[in-house]
Amino acid sequence: MSFTVAPDIFLRVLILADEMDWRDRALCAEVDPEAFFPEKGGSVRAAKQVCRGCEVRADCLEYALAHDERFGIWGGFSERERRRMQRALGAGSFIAADDIKARARQQQRAAKAARWQDSERESRQRKRQALGSAA
Ligand code: SF4
Repeated sequence: MSFTVAPDIFLRVLILADEMDWRDRALCAEVDPEAFFPEKGGSVRAAKQVCRGCEVRADCLEYALAHDERFGIWGGFSERERRRMQRALGAGSFIAADDIKARARQQQRAAKAARWQDSERESRQRKRQALGSAA
């Protein structure tokens, strides 16, 4: 059996799959969501701290900017910071917005590398323990 799918539907499915992929790796899924949507005047420090260690930070920021997300912390940036970014983009000042996105990408890569190193360290430790208990 074979199916024929219209190219635009196929493309949409690919985009959705990509969006779902980064959401699956969102670090905030493991913490209290309240921190990311504080009451007016509430602290966003804890949420931003989580974002700094998130490996999909740049994807998250790009998504929020593309979908004009108005509330909460996305990609480590508050509503106000994202509005400023949108204004910069709207005014044609791509340098500022691109610079911020590039920094987010850089932090995303660093967070990913740190996670990988952590898991490597853990597996080495487990291996050492296993060898130690076998001796
Ligand atoms: S960058 Fe922050 S808000 Fe975005 S997925 Fe990661 S932890 Fe969540």
